[in-house]
Formats: sequence, structure tokens, C-alpha cells
Amino acid sequence: MEDLFQLRPELRGGALEVEIRSRSEAFRAAAEQFRFAVTPYYLSLASDKELCGIWKQILPDLRESRDELFHRPDPLAEEEHMPVPGLTHRYPDRALWYLSHNCAVYCRFCMRKRKVSRGESTPGEQDRQRALDYIRSHPEIHEVILSGGDPLSQSDEVLGYCLEQLRSIEHLASLRIHTRMPVTCPQRITSEFCSALEKWGPITVITHFNHPAELSPLALDAAERLRKTGCVLLNQSVLLAGVNDSVEVQKSLNLGLLKAGIKPYYLHQCDEVQGVSHFRVNLEEGLNLAKAIRGRIPGPAIPQYVIDLPGGGGKVPVDSSYFLNRDFHRPVFENYAGLRFYPVGDRS
Ligand SMILES: *Cc1c(COP(=O)(O)O)cnc(C)c1O
Ligand code: SF4
Repeated sequence: MEDLFQLRPELRGGALEVEIRSRSEAFRAAAEQFRFAVTPYYLSLASDKELCGIWKQILPDLRESRDELFHRPDPLAEEEHMPVPGLTHRYPDRALWYLSHNCAVYCRFCMRKRKVSRGESTPGEQDRQRALDYIRSHPEIHEVILSGGDPLSQSDEVLGYCLEQLRSIEHLASLRIHTRMPVTCPQRITSEFCSALEKWGPITVITHFNHPAELSPLALDAAERLRKTGCVLLNQSVLLAGVNDSVEVQKSLNLGLLKAGIKPYYLHQCDEVQGVSHFRVNLEEGLNLAKAIRGRIPGPAIPQYVIDLPGGGGKVPVDSSYFLNRDFHRPVFENYAGLRFYPVGDRS
């Protein structure tokens, strides 16, 4: 906690100092459960006056250890669908490969906080070989997603090696990397990493911007470097109470992403992970928000609002409410402004 005041001395004596110091117990709990860590860069984005969307993503909160609503550490049953350590194979055609359990910044709403931030749980070299063997011997897998933690907390050498190995597997049609480094540590987008993307591409890179304040000049530069490698750049964000659950913030975030050449992909309903429910936005509010932004920003800037079904059901869109009555013969649709429309129905 003291580091925060060293990195941002202007916080001393301000209204936020009291707020931050009042969280000493939450910081202690974090040290044992889900670590606190932030990069000086990401901290520099946080307001010195109020508990802004950046602070809310990083400051430990006692509600994390006293969750009345969400009880499961692994609601998506990722550990159950793990044929070899560090690899989740749930959808028949896609495998999620956790290359690291470390990140530059630990997001308090992390859906993998059961293991993320504990470096010793990161899969090692032997696990990597086993994962590669598994992927090689399962021709039904058409896509591998490098995930974590943050896969970019591995070295460029390891990442390059993994991409090279994956590229040599004939049945893989698509390689993806999920990383928050462009948001939390844009300096990590090195020229070596970009060269690897170029060399082993085409690769889809999915960033994780949640708030317009994260679209800083440095982050935009990193996005530009990524774009120049020819990768497909998409963004997923999590719908977070008090962070990005307003039409204004969503408009500004998604337009900003589009302007940076990053296509908004998913807006996730917060997973029901133990210790995260204070970030939950009710489904009804989420739907209203998703509806409201459609029609107010260009189509390419609109992410799909999805929920990852508990128990490992996979992701589904939360958007059927546009189609109000589900009667194919006399369909009734509601648009972003809440008005009803009656297109010609199906003939029987
Ligand atoms: C989210 C997820 C994927 C990727 O899903 P897409 O809809 O293709 O983005 C793959 N595997 C698992 C286990 C996932 O949770
Ligand atoms: S970067 Fe991703 S994996 Fe890491 S703490 Fe944040 S949400 Fe979790």
C-alpha cells in the first residue's frame, strides 16, 4: 500500500488517502488470497481525486472475502474440463491454454482468481510439452487460445516457441492470444513480440480494455504496433458495476476502441466467481445498456453482450429480448429505443 503513495505522492493529504488507508485489512487479505499488484503506468491513469473506474479495478476490497451471493471459485468448471494441466478443452473445436498465472496488474474481478496471482501454479516446461502433445493428437481442435493469467508474462522466446509449434499443427485453423498487457503494461508490446506475431500470423489478439481512461496515448501506440503486424485486433470487456455500467462510458469506450483500430468483440456479464459479486450488474440493467448503445454508436463499435453459463455451458448472447414474443409467424421486435416493430412473419 505504501508503494501507492510513493508512486503517486500527490495522493498524500488528499481525499483518496483516507479511502486507500481504510483498506489496510483488505490489502492484508489480498496478500493471502488474490494478490494486489499494479504497474506504475496503470496507476498513473488513476484519478487523484476520486475512486474512479481505474481504482475500482485494482484496489482490494473486503467484500472480496465476504461474498454473500457468489459461492463458487470455478463456476465455469474450467478445472473439470482440463485433460492435461494448463489446458481447458470444453468446446469441441477450441482449446484454452494457460501459459502463465501471472499478470502485470491483478484485476479484482478476475474470473480465475482461484489460481491467478500465484506464480507457483503457472504451468512449467513439462506441462507445455504435454499440452502441445494433447493438441497435436486431437484433430477436432481447430483453434488454440493462449490465455492465463496473462500469456504475455511469459518471455518473447517462450511465446515465439509456442506459436511456432502451434503453427506447425496442420489441423489448427486459428491462433488467438488473450492479453491485458496493452492495457496494463503497453511497454510489453515489444518489437520482438510483434515480429513473432508477424512471423507466425495470422493471429487474433484479444485485448481487455474496460474503461475509456485506459485508452491512453501509450496504449494507443501499443495497439498501433499490434495492428501493423497484421493481426486481427479485438477487445473483450467485462461489465462492471461502478466502472463501465453507463451508456456514456460504454459509448466512449467502444468508440475509442474503434478509433484505435480495435473491434469490440464481447461485453461479458460478470462471471459468478466467489468474491466478485459487488461488481455484478443485474442482467436486466445489462440488457437495457446493451440495447441503449445499439443505435447510438456505429455497428462496428458494438460488442456482443454475452454470459458464460455456469457449470461449463459456454458463452451465449444475452440479446433475445429484442425478439419479444418468439412467435415466428407474428414477430414483435423492440429496438434500442424501446419502440416495438412488426416485421412480416414466417409463412407456415
Ligand atoms: C470463452 C472460451 C472460449 C472462446 O470462446 P469464443 O466464443 O470462441 O470467443 C473457448 N474455450 C473456453 C473454455 C472459453 O471459456
Ligand atoms: S489480466 Fe486477466 S487473468 Fe490477469 S487478473 Fe486481470 S482479468 Fe485476471
